[in-house]
Amino acid sequence: MSSDRDMTPEEAQRMAEACCAALTCDGCARCRLICPDLAITQDAAGGVVINAAFCRGCGLCVAVCPCGALAMAPLR
Ligand code: SF4
Ligand code: SF4
Repeated sequence: MSSDRDMTPEEAQRMAEACCAALTCDGCARCRLICPDLAITQDAAGGVVINAAFCRGCGLCVAVCPCGALAMAPLR
């Protein structure tokens, strides 16, 4: 069984694009602070930006988001 560390860059990109989708966000930064791979940054307005190259699809950001702004989704 392969781990996320064995993924090709293309597979990682697809996973990251699928794993989180920002819906409504108040900019609290919980997701950015908990992400183990530093895959989340915030823009000047507090908006969440997920770096697909670093996201492993762990779901921690979804779990800590207090307003349901993030969601896991199946790979395309
Ligand atoms: S799913 Fe995990 S790795 Fe991806 S952005 Fe969320 S906390 Fe980071
Ligand atoms: S935890 Fe949720 S509300 Fe807070 S910055 Fe992240 S996406 Fe936005």
